[in-house]
Amino acid sequence: MAKLMRMKGPNGLRPCRTCKILGISGENNTHYVPCFRHDGEFYDPLDLPLRTHDEFIDDAVSVEKATTNAEAERRAKDTGINGLPVLATLSSLEFPASFGHDLMHLIPENKLDVGTGDYILQPKVVEDIGRNCVAAGDTTPTAFGARVPNIATQLHYFTAESYTLWTTLLAPVVLRGRFPHKRYYDHFLGLVDIFNDCLSMSLSREYVDNDLRARIGKWVTDYERYYYQYDESRLSACPLTIHALLHIPDDILNGGPMWTYWNYITESFSRRLREIAQNTAIKVKYQLYTELDLSPWHEEELSGHVVAGYNGIRVLRPRATGPLSNRLTTAVAYGQLLRLLEFTIALPPECDTASCPLLLAAIRPVKEPKKSPYPFPVYQDGQFRPIEVIDVDDLSCLVARVPANRRGPLVYALYEHPDSMGSAVEAE
Ligand SMILES: [Zn+2]
Repeated sequence: MAKLMRMKGPNGLRPCRTCKILGISGENNTHYVPCFRHDGEFYDPLDLPLRTHDEFIDDAVSVEKATTNAEAERRAKDTGINGLPVLATLSSLEFPASFGHDLMHLIPENKLDVGTGDYILQPKVVEDIGRNCVAAGDTTPTAFGARVPNIATQLHYFTAESYTLWTTLLAPVVLRGRFPHKRYYDHFLGLVDIFNDCLSMSLSREYVDNDLRARIGKWVTDYERYYYQYDESRLSACPLTIHALLHIPDDILNGGPMWTYWNYITESFSRRLREIAQNTAIKVKYQLYTELDLSPWHEEELSGHVVAGYNGIRVLRPRATGPLSNRLTTAVAYGQLLRLLEFTIALPPECDTASCPLLLAAIRPVKEPKKSPYPFPVYQDGQFRPIEVIDVDDLSCLVARVPANRRGPLVYALYEHPDSMGSAVEAE
């Protein structure tokens, strides 16, 4: 997006596309953007010097009108804009208001060096966390997204989607109790709460403009105190991705909740295209024409059928044979789906209701612990209540399970996405 706007990026003196904050030069000619500077200067996180459309266009035009390349480069570096974007010809667009940030790429990927804080995780701890990432993949429905690789050994496989799932789904569970000081964990949970708010299906303008803005401003201020520590040698802790969080409220006010313009959907579609291309090559090479058939009729076969009276629910053929695993589920209203029962019942004539198809679910509810030290719903593996049969209309969402303890009987954290990603269809 920044390229479309012809932004110079971290090499410019004013690297932010939304405001005119002055960067501080650090390693590799990169400019970092802490609000509170080591020299005592500061920008108010809640009152940044925002770029306006007219200023943006004037700055871009001034670069275009430079009489020499050297002068154009000087002006580009000073303003952070390389020239007039071709999209500026569209009167319906406003710079920078029409170009909201993509939440997927704001997930901070910070590799902090040793500072004066107690937030560095020991290698053995990181290895343990990595193993839990992989284990959680076995108990997380694919509707949540692709499996998260081992963060200790497979960081090179991480995509923006992996970082999103890691941050919002896994990290709150696997990082609990890992830091020597709890404030780092609490601070991290604050970011997860902010992300989840940004992905809500609906948000009031008043909440975004006041509460959310204040929460993000405080989070970034605390972040700089914990990790940047107002130390010039630690400038790399303050990249644009951290600063850009401060612009999220305006992005939402301009463009709506961030799921309406984040790249999750675009990247999923791109991955689907790549899979089809690879699938075709494998199909031809190994003559797997039937097994890898993605033609429309085969898709229809895979997509199941609808039962009258149960709008929005599709029943698929069973994919597994033999008894289903009994290693699933958790707390209050959580449970393991054992079986779907579809049948038509012939009601006696004296009943007013006409005969109709029924779709029921056999559920094994999990046992909720009476007292739980965890800040999220959990259940102990294998602890269930008696099986219940309920109408499938009462099922609301898929649940992921993440191993939550390091010793004793296995305890799973239960995680659902009521408003986004895997369960978005439900909210629609
Ligand atoms: Zn900015």
